[in-house]
Amino acid sequence: MDSKKLGKKAIIKVSDKFFQDSEINKIALIAPNANLNIIKNYEVVEKSSVELPQTIKGICKCMNPKCITNSEPMQTKFDVISQCPPALRCFYCGKVTDQEHFVII
Ligand SMILES: [Zn+2]
Repeated sequence: MDSKKLGKKAIIKVSDKFFQDSEINKIALIAPNANLNIIKNYEVVEKSSVELPQTIKGICKCMNPKCITNSEPMQTKFDVISQCPPALRCFYCGKVTDQEHFVII
């Protein structure tokens, strides 16, 4: 276990102006066990654990150096094959990028 990784009790507070799906998806990738508090007008209005959608576009790089997404100026696209720990399968090359290899764009 890596103690630097965020554990189950991690709570991430986000202001509503930063509450965008792409940001939430980034959090879900980095800290799949975190709870999310959404703060609106200085009050917590929503508490939810973060969850990844079935597909993710952008956000993360494919770990396959030969993947077309790493040589062409295009957006990455992944199927989420595991939520926790998160694992992403590249739509273009089929390579699975696991949490240890996430490079957040
Ligand atoms: Zn790929």
